[in-house]
Amino acid sequence: MELNMSTIKIAVIPGDGIGKEVIPVGMRALEAAGRKHGVEFEWTEFNWSCETYHQTGRMMPEDGIEQLSKFDAIYLGAVGFPGVPDHISLWGLLLPIRRAFDQYVNLRPVRLFEGVPCPLVGKQPGDIDFYVVRENVEGEYSSIGGIQYEGTEHEIVSQQSLFTRRGTDRIIKYAFDLAQSRAKKHLSSATKSNGIYHSMPYWDGRVAEIAQSYPEVNVDQFHIDILTANFVRMPEFFDVVVGSNLFGDILSDLGPACTGTIAIAPSANINPEKTFPSMFEPVHGSAPDIAGQGIANPLGTIWAGAMMMQHLGLPEMHDSLMQAMESVLREAEHLTPDMGGQANTLALGAAVVAAIEHAA
Ligand code: ATP
Ligand code: MG
Repeated sequence: MELNMSTIKIAVIPGDGIGKEVIPVGMRALEAAGRKHGVEFEWTEFNWSCETYHQTGRMMPEDGIEQLSKFDAIYLGAVGFPGVPDHISLWGLLLPIRRAFDQYVNLRPVRLFEGVPCPLVGKQPGDIDFYVVRENVEGEYSSIGGIQYEGTEHEIVSQQSLFTRRGTDRIIKYAFDLAQSRAKKHLSSATKSNGIYHSMPYWDGRVAEIAQSYPEVNVDQFHIDILTANFVRMPEFFDVVVGSNLFGDILSDLGPACTGTIAIAPSANINPEKTFPSMFEPVHGSAPDIAGQGIANPLGTIWAGAMMMQHLGLPEMHDSLMQAMESVLREAEHLTPDMGGQANTLALGAAVVAAIEHAA
C-alpha cells in the first residue's frame, strides 16, 4: 500500500442507523482540516449494510475485501440493525474486514474533555486519559465449536477461544510499546486466570515474559471483574490497558461511559505493519433508538478520522481535528443531547468545521 500524500483514497462505509448520519459529518471535518494542510480526499462510498443484506443475502459482495484492499484506509460508521441478527452483521462485514486486513490492534482512547459532564463524582479533565488496547482478530471471537444433540434435553453447546503465541505476543508488545512512549509508562493487563483455565494463565505468562524486555514500564494485572470496578472507582490510575478481544470490547465501552458519553469514543482497527488498509470507526453502534432523528453525536466519528490521519502519517491533520473538537467541547454551546446539550448532529459538525477554519 503506497500512500500518495496529496490525495488520500478512502473507502467509506456509512452502514446502518446513525452510521449514515455521522459519517458525512466526519468527512466534512476531514475535508476542512485538509483545506488547511493541503490534503485532498478521494472518497469512494460503499452502501454495504443490513439493507444490502435484506436485498442480496450478504452484508457485502463476495469480492468486498478485494475492493477495499485498494484504499489507503477505511472509514466506517456502524453496522447492525433490528431485523438482522447481530452475529450476521458482525460476521458478514466487520470481522472479515478486521481479519482479512490483519487489523490485529484495536486502539481505543478514553479521555475526559473539558465541557463534558462526567458521571463520576469529582473527576476533572486530565484525570481520565488512557488507552484500551484490544486484541482484534482472535481470542473469544471465534466460530470454533458447535452444538450436539440439538433439540434434545441433552443439548451441549461448546464455544472455543483461540489464543496463538503470535497473536498474543504481538498485541501485548504493541501495548508495551505504547506504554513505553507515554509519560506514566504504566501497563495494566486484563485477565481472568482464576476462572478461565487455559487461555488466561497463558496470557498472563506472555505478559510476564514480554515485560522483561520493557524494564521501564510498570506492569500490573487485574481480573476483569475488579478491573471494571476500578475503571469507575479510580480511572486516573490507568494509562494503557491491554485485553483480549472480549475483555477489550467490554472495557472500551465502559471507559468512555465513565467520561460522560460512549458517543465520543473512536476505535482504530490497525494493521501496524501497514501491509493492508486500517479501518477507523466510532466505538458506538448504529443506535436504532435514535436513528433518523438527526441528534447523534458525531464526535466519535470525527475523532476516528483524526486517528486515521495519525496512522497515515499526517499528525498536523490529527492535531487540527483534535484541537477543534476540544474547543467546541470547552465552549459547550453545541453539545448533542447525550452530552447534556440540545444541538443536533449537523450543528455540532458545523461547529467543529468552523473551529478548524478559525484556528490559528
Ligand atoms: P454495537 O453492538 O454495534 O456496539 P450497541 O448495542 O452497543 O451496538 P449502540 O448502538 O452503541 O449499542 O447504542 C447504545 C446506546 O448509546 C443507545 O442508547 C444509543 O442511542 C446511544 N448512542 C450510541 N451512539 C450514539 C451517538 N453517536 N450519539 C448519541 N447517542 C448514542
Ligand atoms: Mg457496543
